[in-house]
Amino acid sequence: MTKFTKSKYHDLIRGLFEPAPKNKNVPDFAYNPLSFSGELYTPIIDIEWLRKNKPPVWPDNKKFAVCLTHDVDAVSDLDLMQNIRVIKKLLQTTSQRPLGETLRRSVEHKLSALKGLMGKTDHLCKFEKWMDLEAKHGARSTFFFAPEHVSQPHNSDCMYKYDQRIEFRGKNISVAEMMRDMDGNGWEIGLHPSWNTHDNLDEMVFQKQQVETVLDHPINSVRQHFLKYDSLNTHRVQSDAGFKYDSTMGYNDNLGFRRGSSYPFNCFDLKADQSLPLLQVPLTIQDGAMLAPGKGMRLDSAKAIEYIELLINEVREVGGVLTLSWHPHTFNRPAYFDVYGQVLELLEKETPWFATVNEVGEWWQEQSKIDLLNFTANLYSK
Ligand SMILES: [Zn+2]
Repeated sequence: MTKFTKSKYHDLIRGLFEPAPKNKNVPDFAYNPLSFSGELYTPIIDIEWLRKNKPPVWPDNKKFAVCLTHDVDAVSDLDLMQNIRVIKKLLQTTSQRPLGETLRRSVEHKLSALKGLMGKTDHLCKFEKWMDLEAKHGARSTFFFAPEHVSQPHNSDCMYKYDQRIEFRGKNISVAEMMRDMDGNGWEIGLHPSWNTHDNLDEMVFQKQQVETVLDHPINSVRQHFLKYDSLNTHRVQSDAGFKYDSTMGYNDNLGFRRGSSYPFNCFDLKADQSLPLLQVPLTIQDGAMLAPGKGMRLDSAKAIEYIELLINEVREVGGVLTLSWHPHTFNRPAYFDVYGQVLELLEKETPWFATVNEVGEWWQEQSKIDLLNFTANLYSK
């Protein structure tokens, strides 16, 4: 297999190989030239950086960083009002799926609502279990919360509200109260913007402000729902909305280094031909890409751990950032929480710097100051 040409590293990191949107649709962005050179699981740009430069410095001289993240697509499944909202939406959008699926899902949500009414305890996410597991390993993570109000609705929108009651640490509290608890205890809260924010600044700002109102302070980090990203617009929209850090550059159905790097790098506005004050903390590994039975790689736990070990080794070798995304609503699904626990055990032995997206971003900008956009632009003019 021919190695990916170094003269194109700059194009790769700027996102030139990602298909541009057509007719307002964002095409399948699974394409990556690194698949053809067999280098998707190799941080080729970081390796090139290290040929002539020192590795990044991390706090306490740690060898690499690990960024734990969660996309909060759901918070509970038995809430009455949430189930009513979902059924209403299913019935309003019947044309978007086979009738049988609409009926099946409507019945499932009626049953869930009934269970909730009968007083059955909701154990969908068990947020405290994720947090306690992380704290046991000396880590904190970033939770990306969806907005509760969306001006331009879509089939994939998350359906929870911030005043929705959930069980958290043995108490019945609102989602907003839980978000403030996480925030106050060192976890980071970011935004998980909806499907139709990818090219819409007003909508992005509207959704960001909802989370900020709950926390009563600005937020810095963002990851697009379903990683739905538009190579011409999304980073500009995120940046103009006031975000400092994005962690969308990963895969839904694969793993690896989508832009050829595990180091954070400035996002690029292809239309304006301009670097943005928005740092990318690239996503390396997503739970569903490995473990979902109906999509992606469809791995069992043992094979998933093998892939993760491979990527840990790659990131450790270059002193980069390994970013993981695990969905809290997978708590009760076979393998998900268990594999997460195994990965944290493995990682703790490596003694990396565990940090939130915000902490990684701040450190990179203030201490590491490695500029891969600039480095790749000048690779052959030196
Ligand atoms: Zn999502």
